[in-house]
Amino acid sequence: MHAPIGPEGRAHELSPATIAVTSGRPGRVSGGPVNPPVVLSSTYVSAGPPAPGELLYTRSGTETWVPFERALADLEHAAQPALVFASGMAAIAAAMSLVPHGGRVVVPRHAYQVTLMFADDLAARAGVEVVRVDIADTAAVLAALGGTGVASLLWVESPTNPMLEIADTPALIAGAHALGVPVAVDNTFATPLGQQPLTWGADVVVHSVTKYLAGHSDVVLGAVVVNDADLHARFHTYRTLHGSIAGPWEVWLALRGLRTLALRVGRSQDTAAELARRLAVHPAVAEVRHPSLPGDPGHERAARLMTGFGSIIGLRPVGGVAAADAVVAALKLWVPATSLGGVESSLERRRRFATEAKTVPEDLLRLSVGIEDVEDLWADLSHALATLTER
Ligand SMILES: *Cc1c(COP(=O)(O)O)cnc(C)c1O
Repeated sequence: MHAPIGPEGRAHELSPATIAVTSGRPGRVSGGPVNPPVVLSSTYVSAGPPAPGELLYTRSGTETWVPFERALADLEHAAQPALVFASGMAAIAAAMSLVPHGGRVVVPRHAYQVTLMFADDLAARAGVEVVRVDIADTAAVLAALGGTGVASLLWVESPTNPMLEIADTPALIAGAHALGVPVAVDNTFATPLGQQPLTWGADVVVHSVTKYLAGHSDVVLGAVVVNDADLHARFHTYRTLHGSIAGPWEVWLALRGLRTLALRVGRSQDTAAELARRLAVHPAVAEVRHPSLPGDPGHERAARLMTGFGSIIGLRPVGGVAAADAVVAALKLWVPATSLGGVESSLERRRRFATEAKTVPEDLLRLSVGIEDVEDLWADLSHALATLTER
């Protein structure tokens, strides 16, 4: 077996676009493959007391995970390999296992809604106190961490789903650590190209690999990334005990998708910024949110903390819920669908879900900008907005 390697040990000096292409390749051997093989085997030949790291049984480890875990760790500047999980939620459940029975977890009031449901479930079955905060309000977040008995975990999402608030994540991490509170960051929206929270001192980074990292809306996968060896061992054990493992094809697809991450993310966020600029002056638009816009509440922080402003847009058309639904119905190119981060542009009205936070406006459309031509996307969008005045 070829040992999958990073780009000759120089991962951190290379640009992220290069790391995405080069990390996790097999060693260079004449006649060897440039891509790692997919190994389909539930068990490995083995007898006697197993050597440390020996492959035994696929639930505890398989070589097909390793190249993706190496590449994602290199992109996040992590000291430990990433750990793939069956889905983003499986990764989030693993990270949330840091919260003990009766503990307290501080979460953004706007965040991936299933993360918030998971926290509520912890409250119901494990006596966990869940405090929802405005993650952009640093003082309020730090106040929620302290008080009688410090919190067990601070959960950060930035930009938030779907409101696109930007946290001062380095300040939150410093403030939480001063209180002895570990910090987990869901880095799905930003991607490791946009920010690397471990370099700010975050204890845990989680990803829904389903979104930008895999990038083609054809795989569900998650990952946990940490610097600390003990935490890595803990999450590795968690994955093995809970059996929340990824299939080999999913990880192979994700690695294939990861190779074009910089191209896809660069293109889609440039297009998102251009569409946001045009939407901001469109008469049928009541409000547009994108951190690239100079007047956006998150603009200054995003410009300071992130590389790029991401490719999610918040849009509220003039005319409320009916107008928002009419826009979705009138679009031909944009796909009406949940999820985000695929090559295809998609959108949805988030409050169509009864479980979405009630502080999210009912008429908010979340647009996930893909890699299609900007003028084709704009023609479809401006045509759909024009139908509003005809109604
Ligand atoms: C989709 C998503 C998740 C959940 O990931 P799955 O792969 O669907 O389980 C978590 N966080 C964010 C920000 C997401 O967008």
